[in-house]
Amino acid sequence: MYFVDVILPIPVENAFTYRISETEYAFIKPGMRLAVPFGKSKIYTALAISVHQIEPRIYEAKEIEQILDETPVVNLAQLNFWKWMAQYYMCTLGDVMRAALPRAFLLESESIIKRISKTPIEPHLDAIDEDGLAILNAFEGNSILRISEVMQVLNKKKVLPSINKLIDLDLVALDQEIYEAYKPKLVKYVRLAPAYNEEEKMHEALDELSRAPKQRELLLNYFTQTARSPKPIKAKELQEQSEASSAQLKALVEKGIFEIYKIQKDRINYSGKEDSPIKTLNENQEQALGEIKTSCQNHDVCLLHGVTASGKTEVYVNLIKEYLAEGKQVLYLLPEIALTTQLVARLQEYFGNQLSVYHSKYSVHERVEVWNNVLHHESKAQLVLGARSALFLPFENLGLVVVDEEHESSYKQYDPAPRYQARDAAIVLAHQQNAKVLLGSATPALETFYNASIGKYGLVTMNKRFGNVLMPENSIIDIQEKHRKKRMTGHFSDDLLRAITDTLELGEQVILFQNRRGYSPIVECNTCGHAPQCPNCDVSLTYHRHRGQLRCHYCGYHIAMLQKCMACGSEELDTKGFGTEQVETELKELYPEHNIGRMDSDTTRGKHGFEKIITAFEQGEIDILVGTQMLTKGLDFRNVTLVGILNADSMLNIPDFRAHERSFQLIQQVSGRAGRTAKRGRVLIQSFNPHHQILQQVSMNAYEAMYHEQLEERHIYKYPPFCRLIKITMKHRDFQKIEEASVWMGQALKNVFRDQVLGPEPPPVSRIRNEYYRNILIKIPRKQSLEKTKKAILKVRTTFSSISQFRSVKIVLNVDNY
Ligand code: ADP
Ligand code: ZN
Ligand code: ZN
Repeated sequence: MYFVDVILPIPVENAFTYRISETEYAFIKPGMRLAVPFGKSKIYTALAISVHQIEPRIYEAKEIEQILDETPVVNLAQLNFWKWMAQYYMCTLGDVMRAALPRAFLLESESIIKRISKTPIEPHLDAIDEDGLAILNAFEGNSILRISEVMQVLNKKKVLPSINKLIDLDLVALDQEIYEAYKPKLVKYVRLAPAYNEEEKMHEALDELSRAPKQRELLLNYFTQTARSPKPIKAKELQEQSEASSAQLKALVEKGIFEIYKIQKDRINYSGKEDSPIKTLNENQEQALGEIKTSCQNHDVCLLHGVTASGKTEVYVNLIKEYLAEGKQVLYLLPEIALTTQLVARLQEYFGNQLSVYHSKYSVHERVEVWNNVLHHESKAQLVLGARSALFLPFENLGLVVVDEEHESSYKQYDPAPRYQARDAAIVLAHQQNAKVLLGSATPALETFYNASIGKYGLVTMNKRFGNVLMPENSIIDIQEKHRKKRMTGHFSDDLLRAITDTLELGEQVILFQNRRGYSPIVECNTCGHAPQCPNCDVSLTYHRHRGQLRCHYCGYHIAMLQKCMACGSEELDTKGFGTEQVETELKELYPEHNIGRMDSDTTRGKHGFEKIITAFEQGEIDILVGTQMLTKGLDFRNVTLVGILNADSMLNIPDFRAHERSFQLIQQVSGRAGRTAKRGRVLIQSFNPHHQILQQVSMNAYEAMYHEQLEERHIYKYPPFCRLIKITMKHRDFQKIEEASVWMGQALKNVFRDQVLGPEPPPVSRIRNEYYRNILIKIPRKQSLEKTKKAILKVRTTFSSISQFRSVKIVLNVDNY
């Protein structure tokens, strides 16, 4: 008898064994997908990990449905990496598999498919088999179908290959992510309106503009340019040349003299000039590159600590070139998609089609394509740029992993399992493949800098900005005093307003940072003090003025904004605190002639949300950009000279051992967006607590002072890097039950780990979506075996789960939960 062990994409502890025939035994290789029955009627896509002849002892092995691949789609190196991840982050291989494989690889009976009506069937008729046609017919009258329904229609279980074929032909899509063509970035261009194409009219227009000199200059510049070359003229460039504002350009459009049109700038299939010469590195960059290479001889990991705009990206590019030239694969990790928009364009200039991009906002299709290109060592996937999930691509020959902005908290996946830290996992992945890791940041994570200080990682420093542009000039504004002296207009101090006005007058751009979205986080009754709460969560509802709603940021619950207090009926409702929306509203009143943009998770929904805003800002269509921490992520805007932080205190007061470190990083990073190219930038930080040591350190760009002070605190209070943390979160809908269960768990853990256990404690928001939360934190000293600790925790969990009244309590294990 022959058997295959498989991983199922569900959280079950063990691999499952299925029966196979002798021929199948000879054919199946680890890493191939199989369709297998599971439970009473489910079909899953499973991944073969080994074939053997040992019959399972405790259950009778079922037969597989069928083999889905001709050759493996997952390689052995990946399986190895998955095993490490499951073991280290205390989850199952199925959890890792689910995170790792593109959704399109994981058809299961509950999956829903949709017909893509845009794609006609006719051209593909030859490629569609009978089953395929039957499936397409089944869509008549149904917009969606479950795979299990397809099984009924075809009256058989082996339907996945036919569905896969239809997906490949773009006729059908998985519902989770309907295939959407990659919309390229739109760039605005100007041309003369047809009516003005005659000489005579041209003169008329110029006369007409005699009293609007800037507009006249725009027009003259336009003529000069068209006379010089027939190339389309970018709105933004024309505006810059004429030192005009976007409003002045707009006026010409409104007068019917200019027309704005858009040209697509394709990003995914790069057709521009390939292999632009790499920028020549300056002396500092050259030196850094040399030092990195030397460091790579003794260290597997090197930290490049370079101030914002020191030109780290160009250093990465040069290093990447060398690895690619050796025929190695390179992975370039980014914390978030917000960044890729700019970086893709930058990297494509150097690497052309050698570059592939991989992240969760890409469609199933695009992702499968990149996956296969990496798997088959295609030249177009030698360099992959991606968010954390790119770690799971089928690399076999990695030479280098670059982790850009390595301090970013979005490298950590919080939910669902695997709850991995992509930077840390990248180091393990690189180690498994004998590759090197380059971590880059202007504000390294404390743990990283610690590892570099003790010599575990190499350390290379760049402390000058490219072109010797000075670091921005920081000032802290005491808004308590400004309030007292009545020098505040809304949330703006007189100093900040003056700076904004000056900047706009010079035709330069402004970034304003407020770490909260919405209009205001609390609505309070002036009469009785009642504040509306979410019925499902323990938080107050945030007022979103634009939508006229009160919304919960945890569960999405929303109601229309109240006219009266729910408790006492008073009409005197007051808002407390403020978010980006309120800043935007105030700005629009203060600067009605200027364009204000907002970047937060409310305005960047959808695949191209970020891109639209970033492009508009780059093109000068937005003068002031207001945003949350999305603004901090390494964006490179050339014309921003002022950054304002509206309220630094809210970040500093978050109850978390990293709050101070994170505030430093956030403020330093937004500040880093100012004055990146020629002129020195200015940063104004408003705070009620201007003497806070973190603000002082930020304003002096004193990373190391911050580092030493924070490290000392971590030492005293026993936090990473001096110990490891494992957080256990328990959830249940019943308050009484969660109390009992968490106390039991806390006690059981204390019996083993004594005072290394903190909690159980309710988190700051202790009820979300009607579930009550309790946290227990285990601090593990460096010298204590992590292996044994985890074993002991799992043992306690097993005992816990065997207690019948606790069975319904959910437990989440989070290793390195920060
Ligand atoms: P960092 O990643 O350190 O914040 P960047 O790599 O974005 O800095 O560089 C900052 C700016 O300086 C960018 O606009 C970049 O184009 C420019 N720059 C960096 N290095 C060079 C170089 N060698 N030649 C020309 N421009 C450069
Ligand atoms: Zn009231
Ligand atoms: Zn809620």
